[in-house]
Amino acid sequence: MATPLSASTLLAALRAEGCAVVEYKSWRTHNRNHKGAWGPVNGVMIHHTVSSGENSSVALCYNGHSALPGPLCHTVGGKSRKLYMVGHGRANHAGSGDADVLRAVINETKLPADNEANTDGNSRFYGLEIVNLGNGKDQYPAAQYDAAVRWAAAICRTHGWGAGSVIGHKEWQPGKIDPHGPVEGRGSFDMNRFRADVAERLKHPANWSPGSSTPAPAKPQTPAPPKENDMATPYDLWAYKGRGETRDAYAYLRGTNADVKTLTTQVAALTATVNKLAQLAGSDVDTDRVVAAVEKAIADALANAGSA
Ligand SMILES: [Zn+2]
Repeated sequence: MATPLSASTLLAALRAEGCAVVEYKSWRTHNRNHKGAWGPVNGVMIHHTVSSGENSSVALCYNGHSALPGPLCHTVGGKSRKLYMVGHGRANHAGSGDADVLRAVINETKLPADNEANTDGNSRFYGLEIVNLGNGKDQYPAAQYDAAVRWAAAICRTHGWGAGSVIGHKEWQPGKIDPHGPVEGRGSFDMNRFRADVAERLKHPANWSPGSSTPAPAKPQTPAPPKENDMATPYDLWAYKGRGETRDAYAYLRGTNADVKTLTTQVAALTATVNKLAQLAGSDVDTDRVVAAVEKAIADALANAGSA
């Protein structure tokens, strides 16, 4: 359960996840909030549009039609891999679904069969409509599928949800079959597979791409313990990535080391100053000369300390 993300936060999350986002018309204020609740939100829902053509599908999802006013989702996923933002707030996409399914989504447990239509889904789910005819033959290009995974992962990541918060419309509302059809390189659109792909993304930083070598933070390398005489070595922060406490400890040591250097410099300057004053004592003291001599002594001491 969570408060819905602001439009700006959602946009930033999608971009951080590597999504090619297009802001369509007045999407930020386009919603059905005057017809019912929006939030608390519990998950994300995947659909297919039963349409073809990127621009016309986006327009349809924004405007809706005579029987169902728009927005018909929050985002439309084109075959180009672009994600079009068409609404923000309550949208007509989920309809009435199964309360047991909602409970499983909230708990991120195994989904029961969706055999009831007793719960308003439009207040609870972010919706993605993927452009596809839904006839079982129209293929989802790999890039379009990947964009959908990124969309779901970005929202889950920002809310702190796992992949168990992701469902297909066909898992929510009796009689629905979406998303449906062949996915390039993956066989039929399988929500378990989709959730596994979202889960894999969530193990990596948001900017990760499948197949890249970005290390997973869940499996950090164990760094060798530093030697005592390595105090002046600037430790590489990245070597301690994923080990927050250790990293903080070394950051603290580096800070302390810098402080000691500064103090050493100041003591050297003061010592030089005192020595110079001692030399001048008893001679024909001239204030300007004293000041000049002290300033030079400090400058010399700083230069020496700095080059040490
Ligand atoms: Zn649907």
